[in-house]
Amino acid sequence: MLKHQNNKKCPFCKAILSENFFCQSNNFVAIYNIAPILPGHCMIIPKNHTQRVLDLSDDRLSEMMIFSRKVIEILNKVFPNDGFNWTIQDGESAGQTVQHVHLHIIPRISKDLAEPGDWYPKLVESKSQESNNRTKLSEEDYLKITKTLKSIN
Ligand SMILES: [Zn+2]
Repeated sequence: MLKHQNNKKCPFCKAILSENFFCQSNNFVAIYNIAPILPGHCMIIPKNHTQRVLDLSDDRLSEMMIFSRKVIEILNKVFPNDGFNWTIQDGESAGQTVQHVHLHIIPRISKDLAEPGDWYPKLVESKSQESNNRTKLSEEDYLKITKTLKSIN
């Protein structure tokens, strides 16, 4: 793997270094969320430690969206859905907690939540629980799902 600019304290840089992703393009990887708010919840992240969307060049931003579409094709084979939430919290005021750009991709299905917009409070809740184990997948389940998704592409 090529060397990328990384930040030793960043959990996403660590995930990239330990190759805990299931799909990659030249400059992006897709990783499964350790605390998924719904089945199939994953994140698209640049291989280089990049804080904000405006730090991505036009080419990189295009690559990110095109790659995301490929990731959705993979998710479609594993997680039944009829929609997706695509979301980026760009900046602390917008709820960004990890200072490394990440696009959440969340498969949706009718009536999976009481209201379609209920994914956002769940996302905030799952982030605040990252320090305790309540909503986290076990290491075993996490590796299993990553392996399954990896086998598809
Ligand atoms: Zn990083």
